[in-house]
Amino acid sequence: MTPSHSTESLVAEPQQIESPRAESREAEPYSAQSQQAALDALHRYFGYDSFRTGQAGLVDAILAGRDVLGVMPTGAGKSICYQIPATLLPDLTIVISPLISLMRDQVDALNDLGIPAAYINTTQDMDEQGMVLAQAARGDVKLLYVAPERLETERMRSFAARVPISLITVDEAHCVSQWGQDFRSSYLGIGEFIAALPSCPTVAAFTATATQHVRRDIVALLNLQHPQVTVTGFDRPNLFFDILRMPTNTKNVWIANYVIDHADESGIVYCATRKETEALAGLLSERGVPAVAYHGGMSAQNRNDAQRAFVTDAAPVVVATNAFGMGIDKSNVRYVIHHNMPESIEAYYQEAGRAGRDGEPSRCTLLWNDSDIVTRRRLLDMDSQNDRMSEDEREVVRLSHRRLLDAMIGYCRTTECLHAYMTRYFADPDAAQSAPPQDESSHAAADNQTSNDPAPAKPNGCGNCANCLSTFATIDVTDIARSISRCVHDLNQSFGMGKIVAVLRGSKTQDLLARHLDSCPSYGVLEQVPQARVRDVLNQMTTDGFLTVSEGRLPVVHFGPRAAATASSDFHYEIKRVERPAAVGGRTGQVKQSGQTLGSDAGMDTEVDEPLFERLRVLRRDIAREIGKPPYIVFSDKTLRDMTRIRPVTNAQFLAVNGVGENKLNLYGKRFMEAIRSFEE
Ligand code: ADP
Ligand code: ZN
Repeated sequence: MTPSHSTESLVAEPQQIESPRAESREAEPYSAQSQQAALDALHRYFGYDSFRTGQAGLVDAILAGRDVLGVMPTGAGKSICYQIPATLLPDLTIVISPLISLMRDQVDALNDLGIPAAYINTTQDMDEQGMVLAQAARGDVKLLYVAPERLETERMRSFAARVPISLITVDEAHCVSQWGQDFRSSYLGIGEFIAALPSCPTVAAFTATATQHVRRDIVALLNLQHPQVTVTGFDRPNLFFDILRMPTNTKNVWIANYVIDHADESGIVYCATRKETEALAGLLSERGVPAVAYHGGMSAQNRNDAQRAFVTDAAPVVVATNAFGMGIDKSNVRYVIHHNMPESIEAYYQEAGRAGRDGEPSRCTLLWNDSDIVTRRRLLDMDSQNDRMSEDEREVVRLSHRRLLDAMIGYCRTTECLHAYMTRYFADPDAAQSAPPQDESSHAAADNQTSNDPAPAKPNGCGNCANCLSTFATIDVTDIARSISRCVHDLNQSFGMGKIVAVLRGSKTQDLLARHLDSCPSYGVLEQVPQARVRDVLNQMTTDGFLTVSEGRLPVVHFGPRAAATASSDFHYEIKRVERPAAVGGRTGQVKQSGQTLGSDAGMDTEVDEPLFERLRVLRRDIAREIGKPPYIVFSDKTLRDMTRIRPVTNAQFLAVNGVGENKLNLYGKRFMEAIRSFEE
């Protein structure tokens, strides 16, 4: 099938489509019975009481034989959407997953829950692979994890031709799209692999990427038939969002202090370059926090070791480039710090979203400054130098990347609630402007444009982001903005920010004088205004659409769509800057301000007995060492906290703990209950 109108229109309205029956294939009658079976499985294997938003609908649809596309943010619980059906469907489920290094953890976790799962990949020799395939053919394996490259092998093709398959799951499905940031050519073979199968299995695709374009590609390229497309809310209420503007040379010190203050917690620090990751990991290790670096330039072995050290809590902190983490399902990551501004909100949300997958309060901090923006713009230009594209295509890609970047800059500069900003962005990323929604008509009509105040930050709005906890001062910068606009005009829209600021401030550099820029009417008119303020207003004006900046090695400032407004006599422009920032609290997610404790689960930690929690954590680590698996596979932090509250001493009580299913009770119940008993004595 080629991308057709029906696909287009279908994905254009990504609502849940009520009819659960697939028209194109024989499906099991959809029933309340299968819903109950799904809930039972959720309870029995995972120890969870109910499905989260979006999960039940996807599970039901899959069980009814309908193709699905699930779009959910990282940590929302995509895996359960196919793992539960896999336990209930008669035949095999194949899970196509991009990273070999993760398969082992995923498979370990499933086996620990009592769900038979296995993987096939290049870490195994031919005999091992043969054994796994034989097991799967016998029906002894319910889920088989494979990398997309594997589907191209003769062995896998002949296996799939012989063995009945109920469900094909495509994880990180956005990798199929060239519009996404993680395109993988091997994903293009998946559609063909499925089409060649003798049976016609249900296909379930999952991604955390929200753009319409990518969604459309997934449906078309995986050839999903009348899929049920479910897009869940993108808010993650347990994450505390923080943005801090600071000079580059103070970032490492800030990060080191934060990490040392939170030495008993696990965290990820994202850096833009390989060199930065190594420097910072070195600094942290010097100061006594075992930290590992991770980047694409390291050998596969070293990367694997680093990931292992992090996942098993041997190194609580990993300092990484964005090469780290796709599909990492370590659930107890308590903080993610970005050393630089990422290229898009999608990238940021995916990376930051690796914090708090267990639902516990966690912190996402973004450090940025104006030079990060300059760097990003420069990179944009280099990104689009792809030889296989025509000049037109390159321009389209450049524009789309620029829009993504503008929204990211908007996030850094906004004073509104950061949760609200994210939610709005993901509700409609294609239409999202970097500035908060405003009446479009007032943009065009310069004369009635009186104020550009972004939506004011509600005092203590969500209570869980830096903006809602900060106090902002409003600064009238009308005159500065007007002067900047006039200067851009005087300079014929053909200079970059640096020159504009220099002209306005009456700089006497050789370069400026040689170009006779000192004869420009704007020369020196902002002599009295500090350079940082001029720059700040200029940047804010680009965010708000008065100006735009082209990408490339020498970015040039042009007029933006709202430029005319600055010439109007009643033009008025204010910016908001942090007056009193949200204080960084001692424990993640708890932010203390004026004696109050704030945070999404503020009251929560007081109920939890820290010494008991610590004791259970030690036990978890010991067990993890014994079985050679990561601690979070034994139990998540959330489960340990719940256990600390409930203090179970009987099997029934133990089963009541969130995240404890039957298999976990059998495996670990006795030891944890003993620990609790002895603690109580
Ligand atoms: P995703 O793949 O969407 O990033 P995961 O599938 O890894 O997210 O799930 C994130 C965490 O949430 C896991 O620890 C998982 O066990 C937990 N989880 C998923 N569904 C539920 C549920 N219905 N109730 C409680 N916890 C859940
Ligand atoms: Zn907020």
